[in-house]
Amino acid sequence: MTHAPEAEAPHVLFVTLGCAKNEVDTDRMRSLLLRAGYGEADDTNDADAVIVNTCSFLASATSESVERTLELAEAAREGVRELPIVMCGCVPSRYGADLPSELPEVASFVRADEEDGIVSVMDGVLGRESVVPAAAGAASGPLTQPLRTVQGASAYVKISDGCDRFCSFCAIPYIRGRYASRPYREIEREVSALAREGVREFVLIGQDTGIWGEDLGEGDTLASLLTRLGEVVRPYGAWLRVLYLQPEGMTDELIAAIRDVPEVLPYIDIPIQHCNARVLRSMNRTGSAEEFSALFSRLRREIPDMVLRTTGLVGFPGETDEEFEELLAFVGREEFDYTSVFTYSREEGTAGARMSDQVPEDVKLERTQRLHDVAEELGFSATASHVGEVVDVIVDGLDTDGEVPELIGHAWFQAPDCDGAVHISEGEAAVGDVVRVRLTEAFCYELEGEIVHGDEGGEAA
Ligand code: SF4
Repeated sequence: MTHAPEAEAPHVLFVTLGCAKNEVDTDRMRSLLLRAGYGEADDTNDADAVIVNTCSFLASATSESVERTLELAEAAREGVRELPIVMCGCVPSRYGADLPSELPEVASFVRADEEDGIVSVMDGVLGRESVVPAAAGAASGPLTQPLRTVQGASAYVKISDGCDRFCSFCAIPYIRGRYASRPYREIEREVSALAREGVREFVLIGQDTGIWGEDLGEGDTLASLLTRLGEVVRPYGAWLRVLYLQPEGMTDELIAAIRDVPEVLPYIDIPIQHCNARVLRSMNRTGSAEEFSALFSRLRREIPDMVLRTTGLVGFPGETDEEFEELLAFVGREEFDYTSVFTYSREEGTAGARMSDQVPEDVKLERTQRLHDVAEELGFSATASHVGEVVDVIVDGLDTDGEVPELIGHAWFQAPDCDGAVHISEGEAAVGDVVRVRLTEAFCYELEGEIVHGDEGGEAA
């Protein structure tokens, strides 16, 4: 979809901070504004306004969001024309009422659940009459066209928003609200339109993807969503990847869908956070090392070549040395292909922040480093284990960091933006192509390979 802005259309610079879910939200706002006749600016010099889509998952992310906004305000002050800044997303959702007095540099604040009204906000800020008034009313009814402007061959697709779990370390339920699944029709429309436009990988995201459909009351489940979306993307040879599954969401039906729907990658992302039952209960989560081990053994049995990703959170209030050692040993034993490590952060408004037995900062950092070291060793060896394979790789772009520019992409076992990349030293392709690559070398989380043609490489993985 291309939208030519009007000759004198105001141009908006989009700055996105935080996670993939924010990328999707920015994408939606961008699409709404382009439809309403706005243009997109590449930097502050040719912008008439800036939208900063913020993150507030952790206190550090909130600070970064505010600092970035203030930097932009400073740049605007030094520029030759007015450059109103609109702050969107998680920071306004979390701190809404306090912000106007604390950040007078910002022209308007838009909570995450108000972002579909971005056109009216920008029209108001810039004193402009909307040329496509209907676009501003997206929130009032379903749109006939999906609001996406994806470039390249991978697209995040948000299947839900919000979370009902209230893990005691996490502010997301207070920022994003209660869990709400996107209706199937809306997801299907978006996926089919993007597949027609050349997208070859759909990364399904949400705060808790495993329970998708439960709140829709129509018997929908993530397994049924995957089965139906598999049929939608089959003619295009596209992949489906699911992130952020919770252990208790791994039902028989879902495991069967991941195993049996050919388009669903055997890439399983289950953020366990911890393995000690007491710590998990204190986190307001469920499970234990034994339960998780049984689940992962079963997954390995039923989905033989699967890749497993998890997240560990260290330094939660009350976590003892022994409990941390348990987590360390567990991660080593389960041999996760990829493990993200988070240091506990005392988040305002959460139950964890009110707990008295906070772990000292130096202990938290030391534990973070130790778990990170184990994760890295496992991740490097998992990456190296793919050398010699011939796999399908989605070409993401051109890497110009080295002496000679080379194509860069990612394989099925690498989620885009998080698990490393494949550098293609030999062969030609365009961004967005899916090519077969023989993997020849590994460096940390990165792989190198060359494009093979025809039957050279045997079966594509
Ligand atoms: S599942 Fe827990 S950690 Fe994840 S978003 Fe919900 S409350 Fe936060």
